[in-house]
Amino acid sequence: MRIAVDFDHVLFDTAGFYDEINVDIDDFKDTFEAVYLENGNEYRIEDHVEKLNTERAYDVSPSDIERMYAAAPNYLRENGLKNLSERYEVVIVTRASHRGWQKQKITASGADRYADDIVIVHGEPEDEPKNLSEADLLIDDRPKEHEYTDLPGFVYDEKTDTFDDVLQEVHLLTDGGEDS
Ligand SMILES: [Mg+2]
Repeated sequence: MRIAVDFDHVLFDTAGFYDEINVDIDDFKDTFEAVYLENGNEYRIEDHVEKLNTERAYDVSPSDIERMYAAAPNYLRENGLKNLSERYEVVIVTRASHRGWQKQKITASGADRYADDIVIVHGEPEDEPKNLSEADLLIDDRPKEHEYTDLPGFVYDEKTDTFDDVLQEVHLLTDGGEDS
């Protein structure tokens, strides 16, 4: 059984993590991605800091950014992900306009250690749905993702749901509770 799981607002408390950053998140993401692309898909904190400080008039240091990345695992719903990955194959399937930043966020959180694969899709759900041929169902917080995929799924609400709910729902959706 292979389960596709969204990252932001499902496996990861994205809002909590972004509260760690003392810069505007769009500035942060745009400059991250510019550095990443300019360096041939390689990221360097020093270049990122320089771009933030010179082009966007911030006053941040490399250690500010390092502290932020070091905090990322605190926002991963690690027990839930671990429980899921012990029972099923897990594919993280995430939609991102900033591919480099999304990879960095996932890696910094440590989520990649529990995933069999990571898939990053682009644009809008109607253009590129989260339709993984090898997945059996999708767990995602956005109803629009579920609307455009053929996979059965569970709309996860980080305010009210827990990963116990997820496991129960996956169990019901995949084998009707007959067997594990
Ligand atoms: Mg999400």
